[in-house]
Amino acid sequence: MLDLQPMLHAVRLAADLCRRVQETHLVTEEKSDHSPVTMADYGAQAILCRTVSQAYPADAVIAEEAGAQFIELVPEADRREVVQMLSELLGEPVSQDDVVRWLDYGREVQAERTWVIDPIDGTKGFIALRNYVVAAGIMVAGKPVGGVIGAPGYPTEDRRGKLFYAQSGAAFSQPLAGGVVTRLKASTRVQEAEVRALESVEKSHANHERMARVREAAGLAGVSLTRIDSMEKYARIAAGDAELYLRLPRIASSRPFMIWDHCAGTALVEAAGGRVSDVDGSPLDFTQGLSLANRGIIVSNGAIHDRVVEAVMQVLQDEGA
Ligand code: AMP
Ligand code: MG
Repeated sequence: MLDLQPMLHAVRLAADLCRRVQETHLVTEEKSDHSPVTMADYGAQAILCRTVSQAYPADAVIAEEAGAQFIELVPEADRREVVQMLSELLGEPVSQDDVVRWLDYGREVQAERTWVIDPIDGTKGFIALRNYVVAAGIMVAGKPVGGVIGAPGYPTEDRRGKLFYAQSGAAFSQPLAGGVVTRLKASTRVQEAEVRALESVEKSHANHERMARVREAAGLAGVSLTRIDSMEKYARIAAGDAELYLRLPRIASSRPFMIWDHCAGTALVEAAGGRVSDVDGSPLDFTQGLSLANRGIIVSNGAIHDRVVEAVMQVLQDEGA
């Protein structure tokens, strides 16, 4: 069985780097698609890809950020700061060339296993000091089969967040700072009064009104609703801390869903006994390159899934889609 320990360690280190950037020097650059990026996105990806190169050298990588963008978008002084932080966290000398090499490691490689990396998922949440995660999914034969998600903002007693991972069809969590490992099981709640629903904070990421119509059609209008950023939503379903996560785009949106935003989360939820599907209940298709050819995403504890699929199809029909 694949030894996940090196990647668990890397995700912890990457989350440390993210925290440091948040506390000391949070500046935002803009990518060509107008989405925000920070030096923590690059620093975190460098750590994760370095670990793939050292601990999983036969594997391929698909990752959100790239070396050329790091040079292009991040001012020189900030690049030097990332290099310095990496050197301190890794306990070894690091050069800017190392960082660029790590950022692009494993790209365009054909391998049996692919790491699908989003160094900071929920960058807008990270910048606004809300929730974000560090994520590395594992894909084999076009299917998410495992992964690691570090969630520094996950509600815990020690306020230091949680680490989630899935492997061989089982899902686990552990305090992000280390400690007792817990096996995860999605909840069995089905009643409106006890179901907890999740959705994006950002209105541009998912259409809040459409999702409210779906909950109503599913007989779940009265459920408690929490808005949080990032794949932490998947983690909460897997951990039995929520039952429903809907992601329906704005009606005219042509923006594709990217595989790194859903790979680790899908593996985690499925391993915990929950379900992840397109609007019609079919599985997400991870075989089409960097994006998913889906119309929306329904994530649930499994028990309420068919009922929500039916409601989504009803709403789409009412919209004339
Ligand atoms: P969330 O924090 O769950 O709202 O989603 C974060 C992810 O939404 C990011 O990683 C982006 O890939 C994705 N995203 C960014 N802008 C948009 C947009 N305009 N529409 C849909 N998704 C977006
Ligand atoms: Mg993302």
